[in-house]
This record gives sequence, C-alpha cells and structure tokens, in this order.
Amino acid sequence: QFKAEIIAVGTELLLGQIANTNAQWLSQHLALHGINVYNHAVVGDNLKRVEDTFKQAQDRSDIIIVTGGLGPTDDDLTREAFQKIANLKIIEHTPAMMKIRSYFEKQKTIMTPNNKKQARVFEGAQVLENKVGMAPGMIITHKQKTWVFLPGVPKEMKQLATDEVFPYLKRVTGHAGIIKSTVLKFAGIGESKLEHELRALINAQSNPTIAPLAQDDGVVIRLTAKEDSSYKVDELLNHTKKQILDRVGSYFYGSDDQTMEQQVVTLLKEQNRKIAAAESITGGKFTDKLISVEGASQVCRGGIVCYDNKVKQNIVGVTRETIENKGPVSEACAVELAAAINDKLDSSIGISFTGEAGPTSASDQPVGTVYIAICTEAGYKQVNRFTFQGDRNSIRDKAALKGFELLLK
Ligand code: ATP
Ligand code: MG
Repeated sequence: QFKAEIIAVGTELLLGQIANTNAQWLSQHLALHGINVYNHAVVGDNLKRVEDTFKQAQDRSDIIIVTGGLGPTDDDLTREAFQKIANLKIIEHTPAMMKIRSYFEKQKTIMTPNNKKQARVFEGAQVLENKVGMAPGMIITHKQKTWVFLPGVPKEMKQLATDEVFPYLKRVTGHAGIIKSTVLKFAGIGESKLEHELRALINAQSNPTIAPLAQDDGVVIRLTAKEDSSYKVDELLNHTKKQILDRVGSYFYGSDDQTMEQQVVTLLKEQNRKIAAAESITGGKFTDKLISVEGASQVCRGGIVCYDNKVKQNIVGVTRETIENKGPVSEACAVELAAAINDKLDSSIGISFTGEAGPTSASDQPVGTVYIAICTEAGYKQVNRFTFQGDRNSIRDKAALKGFELLLK
C-alpha cells in the first residue's frame, strides 16, 4: 500500500490569502486512481523549513507531490530545498529554455536573467512538459521514494498531473484499486433516526463505507466503495444500496444529482396530475423550483404569490372570517388557500404555504411557524404545522423544500 503526501509551498497559503485548492484537487484525483493520501503539508517560502518538511515526507511517505515554488523569483525555493536533501545536480533543460526564450521573443519583451531559473531541472529527473506555462514539472526517484514537483499555478498543476503524473503513478503502483462514491438521498426522516436504523449495517461494514450526513435538502448517505480482488466498485455499491433500501427505502427519493423537485415532477407525470400553489411565505420559491425541472410544463399549472391578506382573500379566495378570526398564519387559512388555488387553477393538487419568516412576528405565531396544506380534487385535505430554524430566507427555503417532501409521501 503506497502512502502519498502532498506538500504545498507558499507563504500566501500560511497567511490565509489563498486556500490550498491544489491539495484538495490532487487528493480527490489521487483517490480516483486508488492512491491513498495520508498527509497534507503546507510550508512557507523559507529554505530551512521547506527542507525540513521534505525530510519528514521522505521518512513517512512513498509518493510525495510538491506544488509551488518553481517560479522565477527569489522566494521560489523548492529546487534549492530538494537539492539540499538529495544532493542532486541542477542543470538547464534545453527544451524548456527554448520555450521561455521564444515566449519573450513573441512578447517582444526582454527576458530577465531570473526567468532562466524556471528551466532548471534535477539531473536524471523525468521532465514533464508544461503546456500552459513556463516551468516544467519533474518526477524523480530518490531513496526509493517517488518525488513529483509541480508548479503552484492551479491550471498548470492540473495539466501536468492529468497528462503526466497520474498515468505515471498508475504504472508505479501497479493496478491500484478504483474508488467510487454515490449519494443516496432521503426525506421525511431525521439524521439520527436514519443512523439508528442503519447502525448495525454501518458497524458491520467497511467497504463501501456508509456515512450519513444532514444536508439542506434532507439527509443523505454517502457510500464510498473501493475495488477489491473479488468485486467491482459498482457491484459493491449496488449491494450495499439494496441493503440500505431494505431498511429505510420508504424515505428514499433519489441518488446523486437527483432532486426532490425532479422526483415530484416524475411522480405527477406518472399519475397524470397537475399542481398549483398558493404561496405566501415562500413567495414563489416552490413554483420556481418546480419550474426549474425540465418537463414541468406537463404538471405545473402555476401559482399565486398571495403575500398580502387582501390577495389571499380577493384573488385566491380565503374567507374574511378565517383571516379575521383565525389569522393568516393558521391551519384554517392554509387549507382554504390550498383548496381555493386548486379550484381556481383547475389542477388536481393544490398546495399552500403560509407562515412567519421573521425576524419579528407579525402574528401571534412564533417566527419559523409554517403551515403547509395539500388539497386534492377528490376532497382530500392535509395540513401540517412546522417550526423551522434559521434566518428569514432559510426558513422560506426550508418551507418550499418541505412542500416537495410532503408531495413525495
Ligand atoms: P510561478 O511560476 O507562477 O511562480 P510557482 O511554481 O513558483 O509558479 P507559486 O509561486 O508558489 O508557484 O504559486 C503561483 C500561484 O499559484 C500563486 O500565486 C497562487 O495563486 C497559486 N497557488 C500556489 N500554490 C497553490 C495551492 N496550493 N493552491 C492553490 N493555488 C496555489
Ligand atoms: Mg512563484
């Protein structure tokens, strides 16, 4: 098992001026090639500290990928630091030098001597041609460890990693296993209940790993499988997915990029039904999400944003008694809104949203209170009261999403 390490060189990373996206990208891609990353290191542009970081990596890792510090300026010290530990000669790489010269000729600018530095490579290194910038990358084996040096500029680093480094590492590590992930999405079940239902399965299992996470659009489970000698990743994922759905399948609504609103559109299409929404607190968010799905025209009649009580009354058709006696944020108002919109827009399902988004409450209901009602053509009525946490707009977003969740039940 090869242990890989990524070292990012640059004081700007330590100062927090830029994020270490090189390490993130490299880790993600190395995983896809079946190479395990055990350490990330970040070190400033200081010769002694870079050298120390290299020594530590040489002791603990098999594959060491260094990004940054190959440029022309004095603070680019990666070569110098590695030279100190490996005692290698640094030579000028003729093709890289020609490239730099021709760049300056084309630009009609004068090349300053420090630009030559970028063409300097370790003697014996495999030189990787930089197709988007100046400084070439390098791969070198030292004391049985594979060292890879890449420029810090993300675009250049990615080109060299993709075209040269990953194919090389694949050969070095032999047929390394592939890793693949999939996300299963659930609605109508909390993270703790889901975890409880799956506890035995999660504990008994290491490939794929099963990781529940709470997200904005419900709870998800991330499955990550690693190819082994007997099974392909897809077989491993499918097997575990089935085991999970046997236990909590009734809450499952989709995988990976699938959204609740897509599932609602699919479901309504299958049932050949149409939906209309009366939206007070959500202000059109529900209908917006619905219409964002391709094919929504087959199932969505439309909606009314009935924010003001006069609109609830005069346009949608809530009775004055309900508004005056029960209030706009009430079970009764929600039901009347859903029934009236269904009727007015000639749909099969009417859904309504009314609540208190805050920051202060305009009614006797606490901030976060939302009533969502669903009425159907057959006279079926359902109303639920929710208390959502968060600021004004997260309460509104949660309410709209909850509408989709209720429709999937
Ligand atoms: P150059 O030839 O441009 O000097 P270099 O190999 O010397 O390249 P650096 O000078 O360390 O690399 O970085 C060049 C630029 O690339 C930085 O200004 C920064 O914007 C970006 N960069 C460097 N390291 C990282 C990193 N780890 N993650 C994301 N961006 C980085
Ligand atoms: Mg630089």
